[in-house]
Amino acid sequence: MPSLLDHAIETLPGIGPRTGAVLRERGYQTVGDLLWLMPRRYDDQRHPTPIHELRAGEYAVVAGKVRTTRRFPRGGHMGFEARLETEQPPPDHAGYDELKLVWFRTVPGLSQRFEVGASVRVAGRVNEYRGVATIAHPEVLKEGEPGVIEPRYPDIPGIRRKTLQRAVRAAVDRAAREVPDLIPEELRAEVGVGPIGDALLSIHVPSPAVLDAEPGGSHPAQHRLALEELVLWELALRLRRAREQRGTAQPFAPEPAVSTACVAFPFELTTAQRAAVTALSASLNQEKPMRNLLQGDVGCGKTAVALVACAQVVGGGAQAAFLAPTELLADQHAATLQPTAEKLGLRLGVFTGALSKDQRRAMLDRMATGAVDLVVGTHALLSGEIRFANLGLVVVDEQHRFGVAQRLRLGVRDSTRRPHLLVMTATPIPRSLALVLYAGLDLTTIDAKPPGRLPTTTRMLPRADRSKVFRQLERALEAGGRAYVVCPAISSSDELIGIDHTLAEMKEHFGADVVGQIHGRLSGDERRARMRDFADGALKILVGTTVLEVGVDVPAANIIVVEQADRFGLAQLHQLRGRVGRAGQRSACLLTYVGPLSPEAEARLQALCETDDGFRLAETDLELRGPGHLFGYRQSGTSGLQFANLTKDGDLLRRAGELADRIVRSDPDLSAPQHAIARAAVRRWEGYEAVREDAG
Ligand code: ADP
Ligand code: MG
Repeated sequence: MPSLLDHAIETLPGIGPRTGAVLRERGYQTVGDLLWLMPRRYDDQRHPTPIHELRAGEYAVVAGKVRTTRRFPRGGHMGFEARLETEQPPPDHAGYDELKLVWFRTVPGLSQRFEVGASVRVAGRVNEYRGVATIAHPEVLKEGEPGVIEPRYPDIPGIRRKTLQRAVRAAVDRAAREVPDLIPEELRAEVGVGPIGDALLSIHVPSPAVLDAEPGGSHPAQHRLALEELVLWELALRLRRAREQRGTAQPFAPEPAVSTACVAFPFELTTAQRAAVTALSASLNQEKPMRNLLQGDVGCGKTAVALVACAQVVGGGAQAAFLAPTELLADQHAATLQPTAEKLGLRLGVFTGALSKDQRRAMLDRMATGAVDLVVGTHALLSGEIRFANLGLVVVDEQHRFGVAQRLRLGVRDSTRRPHLLVMTATPIPRSLALVLYAGLDLTTIDAKPPGRLPTTTRMLPRADRSKVFRQLERALEAGGRAYVVCPAISSSDELIGIDHTLAEMKEHFGADVVGQIHGRLSGDERRARMRDFADGALKILVGTTVLEVGVDVPAANIIVVEQADRFGLAQLHQLRGRVGRAGQRSACLLTYVGPLSPEAEARLQALCETDDGFRLAETDLELRGPGHLFGYRQSGTSGLQFANLTKDGDLLRRAGELADRIVRSDPDLSAPQHAIARAAVRRWEGYEAVREDAG
């Protein structure tokens, strides 16, 4: 018998073909699907907020006495305004002393309802307008109404709020109890959680007692849902891992290639680099395709380690592809790898969008015939038409810059023999989190930098303090250095200082011929030319956007100024700072801001001034903002998690992992009937980005 859960979404009241289509487009096809649309908050109408305690930006239920009213014409209608005052104002208070309610269209009955002196209750989002707390088009609660607790769902364009609310409620009433449990009963008892249906019911239809016990709109059922979610997440990761590791790869013996490569650099590899080489070379010598994440702080020397891996593979007669997130970086890698590659006898090729048609054809040909050993390129290398004679290894640099989808596509490239995969990232991730986010990849960490590096002196200063900025820049250039100046935008606006303004300022101060700009609106050729001039020293100051963030390596650079640094994320700032002092010289990083800073922004910049340890900064960032921001994505986009907090729910996560292991052991591809829901959820998860992007 088909379950009520599987009934079409259109069987719910108020959902016709049109609203049905809107929901379907977002991945809600059935009654059961809709149960997983979660309230973002509860509007608790039982406890009115006194006017002096209102806060702008928050939803509130307010009780007050009507002080004044007026009508006003507005676009052919009559608008209405009422001002409420607190019924018993406290003797001295700092908050608002009145609340303005406005309606910009005619609503019948308002003037009767809002008679001067009447006590009323209204609800809505409070905004501050010219210093006055205001609610536009508030909900008016009826006299004597007990005040309900309403779940508020994400706004979905094309569906009225009330319609959605009613539909979810109907879905809950019909089917919440039918949701099969992913977590078997005995384990639920062990963990101390109830059936999933109960949790769904109480999330959608919250009981007053529960909400009162958990002020602030959080909910104990969240814990239950978090566990469910983490189990699914862990299942999805296990399935993905199984899929990525399917097939076999060509094993490559490390010697003699690795020993030769290790001593081919103009420097000696650090102990940390050698340890990474050892780990990777062993994995490359397996028939199981290597799936490795090499992480290491900015400047720790990941490129060299990757090159050794490439040499190992080429030594065994195969080819390697080295992917960079930008053309700039691809070119740079090609240039820095060239001398060592040549020494090792590796035939190096570059494949980017900048190639002419003929060059491109020639390179494609060399790849297909095996006339090139190592190809450095952008994601253009991932396109379907590319054929390698014998691709043994794919290196993906700065993985966080590639989309998840691209990473997957690499993984599922079809051939009888699969290439090994080495993914590198300098976005420092606490190990605990890395294991979760990159589950399916083995983790290798380079935990130390080459010797002799001085920490970059980092300071915050108000943007207005230009003389200090200029003085520091002068000093750095006198020492034979080069300067980056990073702006949050290309064109200036009311809020943001752009490259345009800063470029003019720098040119005026330092001379037009030594200052250049670099940003995404320049062509690839122009960007390359600028970088070259800067590296050669023809340009001393490069004003740019965050195109500079990732991996740009000009050893002479010794100062970086980040304008309006509070506009950038911590990880991003750390990356930017990693652009200077790379040759071991003294270096500086100036973080300018236009005050006042929010406490969070201040903490972020302060953290940078205090340490240059990327892993510690990552922990700080996690504390300040949660894992989503760490990667520059919104949290939902990163992990797809709604209930669980990867940083805080460590225990739950471990438990979920154990449970997922049990499930997968008994049913590796989730084909058993009792895992249908898990299978469906995992599938939905894989498309989560599209579904959740604007629902959260
Ligand atoms: P990242 O890990 O950020 O990608 P890179 O591989 O770009 O770092 O290396 C940063 C800089 O350090 C480069 O200029 C590189 O030549 C240099 N480098 C790498 N390894 C060593 C080493 N063992 N000793 C000295 N310098 C090194
Ligand atoms: Mg790098």
